[in-house]
Amino acid sequence: MIKNYFRPSTIDELSELKIKTNGYLFSGGTDLFVKIRAGAINTDTVIDTKYLENEELKIENKKLFIPLNTTYTELRKFIKANQINPIIENIVKTIGSPMIRNRGTPVGNIANASPAGDFVLASYLLNASVILKPSSKKIPVEEFIKGPGKIELEKEEFIYGIELEILDDYKFYFEKVGRRNAMIISIASIGLLIKEDNEKIKDIRIAFGSVAPTILRNKEIEKSLIGEKIDKNLFKYLANEFFNLSSPITDVRASKEYRKQLVYNLTLKAYINLYEKVVI
Ligand SMILES: Cc1cc2nc3c(=O)[nH]c(=O)nc-3n(C[C@H](O)[C@H](O)[C@H](O)COP(=O)(O)OP(=O)(O)OC[C@H]3O[C@@H](n4cnc5c(N)ncnc54)[C@H](O)[C@@H]3O)c2cc1C
Repeated sequence: MIKNYFRPSTIDELSELKIKTNGYLFSGGTDLFVKIRAGAINTDTVIDTKYLENEELKIENKKLFIPLNTTYTELRKFIKANQINPIIENIVKTIGSPMIRNRGTPVGNIANASPAGDFVLASYLLNASVILKPSSKKIPVEEFIKGPGKIELEKEEFIYGIELEILDDYKFYFEKVGRRNAMIISIASIGLLIKEDNEKIKDIRIAFGSVAPTILRNKEIEKSLIGEKIDKNLFKYLANEFFNLSSPITDVRASKEYRKQLVYNLTLKAYINLYEKVVI
């Protein structure tokens, strides 16, 4: 049962409370309170970050800064108003339901560090960094997330915001497979970004959710493909490589064999949708 509720308004106050009380931070609470109710987290103290004086959602040096407490709904409005490439919007609009998007936050998604987290996938694709306070450290998201539910924070630290690249001229594909729409936790997901130059790859980024302890992305493979011709054989190669690299688990949602096959199939499906689909 929750006995202590705090709502700090400054960075120092929040940081001191975190050390003193050992309480759990929350913004939307859409992950935290589900876990408390399910008995997965046992705490009687929560610290609400929503009253913190913090920065605005903004674009700076072609990067998007998303502060803690920004909800998915606020982010979608900002993306639309500023005509940012719709990559993020395409992922965010699939998260939960309107109710969840009105409360839930990208920072909460990253702090939760689930390999099924849709915003975690977006942040890997967009080479995001997390900004911590009070230290002001800036850490690439793939170094910050250490495993399922595991992030590296000092006792006094918390996530203050996320910084992501804004990309133009990229083809984009995102799909998540799950049992039902709106409220699904994905069985597997794929995000793909391709920048082309004369039908050859100028840049490629490919990431998978729910098929490894963290989001699966491999920068060595991506680098090795620069300059290659974009065709079905290339995607068959990618499908094979990531089939072999994936290490999913069996859980109530799907078997590991099924998830591995999805890695292969979703990669080819991305190719078909981006390059072979005939629009009637
Ligand atoms: C019905 C339902 C549907 C959902 N659908 C999806 C979906 O489709 N895709 C998806 O990815 N997720 C989904 N989720 C999960 C959840 O909504 C998201 O992960 C959301 O982004 C969490 O944000 P929040 O602000 O609510 O996090 P909170 O619950 O407030 O916090 C999450 C965790 O982060 C910690 N934390 C919070 N803020 C900070 C901070 N500033 N610094 C350090 N740690 C912090 C908390 O202690 C907690 O452990 C769903 C959840 C529900 C209940």
